[in-house]
Amino acid sequence: MKAAQDTQKPDLCPGLLDVESIRKDFPLLARKVHGKPLVYFDNGATSQKPQAVIDALKRYYTEENSNIHRGVHYLSELATSLYEEARKKLRRFVNARRLEEIVFVRGTTEAINLVAQSYGRKFLGAGDEIIVSAMEHHSNIVPWQMLCEQVGARLRVIPINHDGELLLDEFRRLLNQRTKFVSLTHVSNALGTVVPVKEVVKLAHAGGVPVLLDGAQAVPHLPVDVQEIDCDFYAFSGHKMFGPTGVGVLYGRAELLDKMPPYQGGGDMISLVTFEKTHYNVLPYKFEAGTPHIAGGIGLGAAVDYLAGLDWDQVAAHERDLLEYATQAITKIDGLRIIGTAQEKAGVISFVLDHVHAHDVGTILDQEGVAVRAGHHCAMPVMQRFGVPATTRASFAFYNTRAEIDVLVGALHRVLKVFG
Ligand code: PLP
Repeated sequence: MKAAQDTQKPDLCPGLLDVESIRKDFPLLARKVHGKPLVYFDNGATSQKPQAVIDALKRYYTEENSNIHRGVHYLSELATSLYEEARKKLRRFVNARRLEEIVFVRGTTEAINLVAQSYGRKFLGAGDEIIVSAMEHHSNIVPWQMLCEQVGARLRVIPINHDGELLLDEFRRLLNQRTKFVSLTHVSNALGTVVPVKEVVKLAHAGGVPVLLDGAQAVPHLPVDVQEIDCDFYAFSGHKMFGPTGVGVLYGRAELLDKMPPYQGGGDMISLVTFEKTHYNVLPYKFEAGTPHIAGGIGLGAAVDYLAGLDWDQVAAHERDLLEYATQAITKIDGLRIIGTAQEKAGVISFVLDHVHAHDVGTILDQEGVAVRAGHHCAMPVMQRFGVPATTRASFAFYNTRAEIDVLVGALHRVLKVFG
């Protein structure tokens, strides 16, 4: 039945994933932009939301809204149980050992800042070294630079090769007695590179060094198991994995979170306050000061439910097909060069076009209904590494199709005509 559908619809990818029905779950994908059907290839910046997530948000504000944790009335207990249920879903989503290892935050950026300021200020000092890579998002550079300034530590950078792959030998060389923390991306937003994180963690742990992984671009594409990876911290954002904006997760090994001081002070993160002394709450609440994004947490739980309903082998096959199809089609375009050609890549194609600025490319594509990102992608050091001011980036999700890639290629030919 599925195969028959696929032969009838050659414009869709020939995998098993039923993309046509998945697309119906995402209402925004049906809209037009500038009178043209939307082709949404800006998933790396933020993904679209399935109806189930939109419904969860709407239901929360129409039927369930109340503040959590301290209320004795029905609605407060309901909101609390829905929010804590979402935490359970997120624990299963990354396979954390314990529920208290799931800390709700605003997103990846806040998660990394939390670890830098809490773990970093307590355990790092003058002369200590923190290792990041040359392909990090600014969110995984600046918090560490701030920490370095505060405690006198030093930032070391693992170089990448011309395909955008991490140089593991260089990492081995950088690791030394002074290394006190490693913080790396799991998947590069600017290049699409999938980093061999298990190997990285093994090397760091051999020297007793904890590892944080920035999973912002990994969770929308790969199943993540923090126990299997064996990382100490894992940070990700809800909005890139088909959930709401303003909410994300820091996974942290309980033994480490336990030793870390609170990141922010306020309500909910305390068990007892007097003017003489405050006692902090247990995990994870010690790190969750103030009223959180309750609707966001519940909505993120709905996104996890949605993702759990997909067959991830099919998703992986479909995304691989999209990447290969797009890479082949796009490299045929005169004067186009792909930046980021790693062996292991997620569905991201960054490229430059001779004599045309990325912003001009993006603007013309937009006129054709194709949404891409143009610029430095919050990864200026990556641009410097490849000697380009900016790239145009098409980033795919499982709801994208080969037919949409054909539209992108057609629109790129239009760019060539305009600038030819
Ligand atoms: N890390 C990576 C690899 C990203 O791609 C992004 C966002 O693009 C971030 C961190 C920051 O995520 P957020 O802005 O949701 O905190």
